[in-house]
Amino acid sequence: MLKPKCIISSKPLAFTSYGYLLPCCWCDKRNAKVSKAEGWDKFMTSDLHLDNAKVNDVLQSKVWNDFHDTLTNNPENAPNTCKKFCGNDEYEEISKVVE
Ligand code: SF4
Repeated sequence: MLKPKCIISSKPLAFTSYGYLLPCCWCDKRNAKVSKAEGWDKFMTSDLHLDNAKVNDVLQSKVWNDFHDTLTNNPENAPNTCKKFCGNDEYEEISKVVE
């Protein structure tokens, strides 16, 4: 089971040093390969950069809507980071390998 703290509690958004918003600080990976493998790179495209889009536009973008839909309706396909930090024991093995 996934209990996304970014939806059901007050886990705040993250604002990266590169100028992008992410759903939370745990999604801000230091490793580009990990970021891509988990799909966080989708949140960091030029159209979602805060030089090019307003915060509300970013938060209402397809990338963000699809992500929230996955967390709510299809949690098995959520990124491993979400399973580690917002999942239950079911995801214990995944949690051990999340960078
Ligand atoms: S780890 Fe994922 S589900 Fe948990 S707060 Fe961050 S974005 Fe939301």
